[in-house]
Amino acid sequence: MSAAAQEIPIMNKSLKRLIDGNHRFVNSTCKSLVDYHVNRLSTIEAQKPFALILACSDSRVSPEIIFDQGIGDLFVIRVAGNILEEVQWETIKFGVEILGIDAILVLGHESCGAVQATIEKADLEIPLIREQISKGISNLTNINYAAKTNVRYVVGKLKERLKDKNAEVFGGFYHISSGEVEILSETPVPLHALRPPPPNPQCYSPPLKLK
Ligand SMILES: [Zn+2]
Repeated sequence: MSAAAQEIPIMNKSLKRLIDGNHRFVNSTCKSLVDYHVNRLSTIEAQKPFALILACSDSRVSPEIIFDQGIGDLFVIRVAGNILEEVQWETIKFGVEILGIDAILVLGHESCGAVQATIEKADLEIPLIREQISKGISNLTNINYAAKTNVRYVVGKLKERLKDKNAEVFGGFYHISSGEVEILSETPVPLHALRPPPPNPQCYSPPLKLK
């Protein structure tokens, strides 16, 4: 099982559709080349996206591509560090209340520059973004673990705000290196548990010493 294997069963139909699309992307079996001409014509009158994605602005994390979707399929909000501020919240409300979207995926990713800048307290003029990420990750220093923690923090805030709405919220983590999107469980695995176990002494051969 790969590092990006699913941690939770996929029950939500819209989330399943996203994951199926991501499998096509990873396996180079995309249903594309999507006919964007037909795609565009079929959405002139109205849009009916099936999922909302709150993703980072990182140029390597393009939701329509990594989920193999076409025009009109996804309602996408992108902001560095996939943070939730009032502007993003109003956009999400629009998606849920006006467009009737019932599945939201908060999508963090491997090697996130916004998370890294927050951890390293880099001299960048992004105070609002850093403030929001800091609230989620506190003193974590492992970038990818912190990025997942940041996703869970945003998911928690969104679930609270959407508790009276007909919308499910999920957290995802995009592995740039493999192309896989990992769906995060609500409860994080402690960082120390992710480290490889020590070698079994019965199977362990000490390194050869040169004389
Ligand atoms: Zn990022």
